[in-house]
Amino acid sequence: MSWHATALTLFPEMFPGTLGHSLAGRALREGLWRLDTLQIRDFATDRHRSVDDTPCGGGAGMVMRPDVVDAACAAALAEGPARPLIYLTPRGRLLDQALVRELAAGPGLVLVCGRYEGLDQRVIEARGLREVSVGDFVLSGGEPAALVLLDACVRLLQGVMGGAESATEESFAEAAAPLLEYPHYTRPVEWQGRRVPEVLLSGHHAAVARWRREQAEAATRERRPDLWARRGGPHGRLVETQD
Ligand code: SAM
Repeated sequence: MSWHATALTLFPEMFPGTLGHSLAGRALREGLWRLDTLQIRDFATDRHRSVDDTPCGGGAGMVMRPDVVDAACAAALAEGPARPLIYLTPRGRLLDQALVRELAAGPGLVLVCGRYEGLDQRVIEARGLREVSVGDFVLSGGEPAALVLLDACVRLLQGVMGGAESATEESFAEAAAPLLEYPHYTRPVEWQGRRVPEVLLSGHHAAVARWRREQAEAATRERRPDLWARRGGPHGRLVETQD
């Protein structure tokens, strides 16, 4: 049974979107993963097919109704084996490669895409929705966030990515204390007066590996002190006891 994602959304036409192309798209067509959408509005019960209502306590915007979202969740979960339910929200745990790895290793996902001001808190609690954010900014809806999360998961699925090295060498590959990746170069060797670093032309594999490691560590130290701080030791080398 392939990895199975279901997006609950008011805009099913936004899927597969970018995931219909390139590696993810080919894998989808080859059945390496499966993507369904459920139109949340189909679970509305009144004659206006309402999915939202005004916020209790007043204020701007509208809130998605718990009963309608709950019925959509139930329908998604009724299809096959249990899968984690995720609500994309700026209030959630920040998405990172560790979470992506965990989710890609499971049976798939049910993704709830919010609109308006978001979901009524009671359905989040009642369904045990895991809240995940794709960054400290506010999107107009959960669909682009769902596409980001799915893209990151799908490329880790067995058979999706060509070149087994790609996933082990790239940024965040070291689960315990991630590093950013080293910089890349290709031909021409000289371009606009800038040369490819000599070590990369030397054919000396150990020297190349050492240079790349140093570059990765320097970039992480300068650009992401938060990640660097997760590494211990006098030179930022990983200390075994760190998480
Ligand atoms: N009122 C919400 C707040 O201030 O946190 C923002 C609601 S936003 C306009 C509508 C929907 O977009 C959210 O319910 C959520 O599903 C999605 N969304 C917005 N930003 C997101 C982010 N950074 N990560 C994940 N989902 C996001």
